[in-house]
Amino acid sequence: MTSAHRTTNDWQRLDTSHHLHPFTDYKALNSKGSRIITRADGVYLWDSDGNRILDGMAGLWCVNVGYGRQELADAAYRQMLELPYYNNFFQTTHPPAVELSELLAAVTPQGLNHVFFTNSGSEANDTVIRTARYFWALLGQPGKQIIISRDNAYHGSTMGGASLGGMRAMHEQGGLPIPGITHIRQPYWYGEGGSLSPDEFGARAAQALQDKIAELGEHNVAAFIAEPIQGAGGVIVPPDSYWPAIKDICRRHEILLVADEVICGFGRTGKWFGSDYFDLQPDLMPIAKGLSSGYLPIGGVMVSERVSRTLTEEGGEFAHGFTYSGHPAACAVAVANIKILRDENIIERVDTDTGPYLQSRWRELADHPLVGEARGVGFFGALELVADKKTRTFFDPKGRVGALCRDISFDMGLVMRAVADTMIISPPLVADKAHIDELLEIARSALDETAKKMNL
Ligand SMILES: *Cc1c(COP(=O)(O)O)cnc(C)c1O
Repeated sequence: MTSAHRTTNDWQRLDTSHHLHPFTDYKALNSKGSRIITRADGVYLWDSDGNRILDGMAGLWCVNVGYGRQELADAAYRQMLELPYYNNFFQTTHPPAVELSELLAAVTPQGLNHVFFTNSGSEANDTVIRTARYFWALLGQPGKQIIISRDNAYHGSTMGGASLGGMRAMHEQGGLPIPGITHIRQPYWYGEGGSLSPDEFGARAAQALQDKIAELGEHNVAAFIAEPIQGAGGVIVPPDSYWPAIKDICRRHEILLVADEVICGFGRTGKWFGSDYFDLQPDLMPIAKGLSSGYLPIGGVMVSERVSRTLTEEGGEFAHGFTYSGHPAACAVAVANIKILRDENIIERVDTDTGPYLQSRWRELADHPLVGEARGVGFFGALELVADKKTRTFFDPKGRVGALCRDISFDMGLVMRAVADTMIISPPLVADKAHIDELLEIARSALDETAKKMNL
């Protein structure tokens, strides 16, 4: 049977027979079957039953330039004919890796001029752990090993990435975190701010870093890692007071600041990087996702002058790397993707035009009886679904209403994701105002239908 003749049912049956999905409850999936996505164009997906769905999540936060860009397919095709594979080990390189490195040095914040390539955000964060610890060892401070992260952070799913992350469910499976990683509270004002103002709470959340460093001893701490805006944790935008205080603490205590830009990078906030949006000046900056708009897997770590100089001048061989670090086809696609973002002014449009439009329309949803807060930045959005808006009281049990709203939204033709009862969006950066209007219309209908099903 050729694949063109397979029905939705055939795909579902074969899928449950042979395929173990990531982040999936297998029993639950097997009882209802997967949704089969068969093609995509621009900001839309189509499933195997022919339904058109507006992709409010840009895949998994990655398809920044939208689907169906011929230039990216051509770049991969041409490169695969020219040089499909060669490695960057043992003092060799190839033009796509060099071109991408040059381009990344140009578009990333000042002071970040070197890149170490990986195939994913998780590998980028494993690379962060090794680089940060190696850096301090080279400077004669091998005791500086501990990396401080945050509860409810997401930094990937390898042993290192999941350890840096602050997801309890991930730590419970496989005996994580690995040694030398510890977590402080997150700057989640809506959920944890109590009676404090956002800025008071932001200052307190930053103080937790200061306290943790004091507890561990500065001479034992290598780095602090955080997403500029938490993505998978629920699009958590820190209060204004948070980042300046964190930056100051890292500087005063000689601790590397790592900005995990895997989601924020390449335009999501309306600036090229979250580090531009918050003026972070990080020492290390993991990237992935929007780097290739998801067309091929690639990630990396941007490395500051201070760190790269130390690796070069003080170090011998850095015993780290992947067979596919700087894969030629992935690099060629990333180069073409960055040129599209740059030459079509896509990020500027998010900053000054479509982003402000999305934000003002998204905030209209705050008047809905289910919505306690509507927040966002650029092309990020979140809605807190609550039982009582006045007292910021969540539903009990958490997660039921979010999952319901997500399923209703999908059936109505919009991908929104649920993080417990926080509905989130992260649309392709090429969505125009008509797409945004369509997104808002479906989102509101989905909220109405959710309220009805909850008998509210
Ligand atoms: C997705 C994500 C990662 C992990 O990237 P993978 O490519 O899935 O390994 C790391 N950090 C952040 C902030 C992410 O959102």
